[in-house]
Amino acid sequence: MKRMDKLIQEYIHDPYFTKEKYHDPSVCERCGVVFHDGIFEWINPPPANAEKFICPACRRIEDKYEGGVVYLKISPYLQKHKEEIFNQIKNVEEEEMRYRPLERIISIEEQDDEIVIKTTYEHLARRIGEAIHRAHKGDLKLSYPEGKKYVRVYWQREE
Ligand SMILES: [Zn+2]
Repeated sequence: MKRMDKLIQEYIHDPYFTKEKYHDPSVCERCGVVFHDGIFEWINPPPANAEKFICPACRRIEDKYEGGVVYLKISPYLQKHKEEIFNQIKNVEEEEMRYRPLERIISIEEQDDEIVIKTTYEHLARRIGEAIHRAHKGDLKLSYPEGKKYVRVYWQREE
């Protein structure tokens, strides 16, 4: 693939990941993540010559521009295990964030008969769905309406 094609593809998939434009190293003034040697890492303290920027994850959170969404159907089972499931969601986020610093939860909201969890990228939404499915069984469905860069995850268990 030619370089221009690649740049255009990256732009289509993630308008927030404008890697070429970042100073290396840079540190996010919101969350403290460091862009260094071409990747995002948690480095504390950040390199002394780091410039300030706002990382793609913080920009997505600000704009509510999700890369994945998880729908948990509100059922008798979910009501009963809600606290446990919410703790599990936070744990998955913490685990993923350690190695993939841009994977974050944007929002968790109750809408009608669903709990809707939006994440910055596809990966975290999928991991949340898989973790709940592993621990609680039920039905898990993944759909990729726009290719691999955006996922909708559906989980439900009646009782
Ligand atoms: Zn940030």
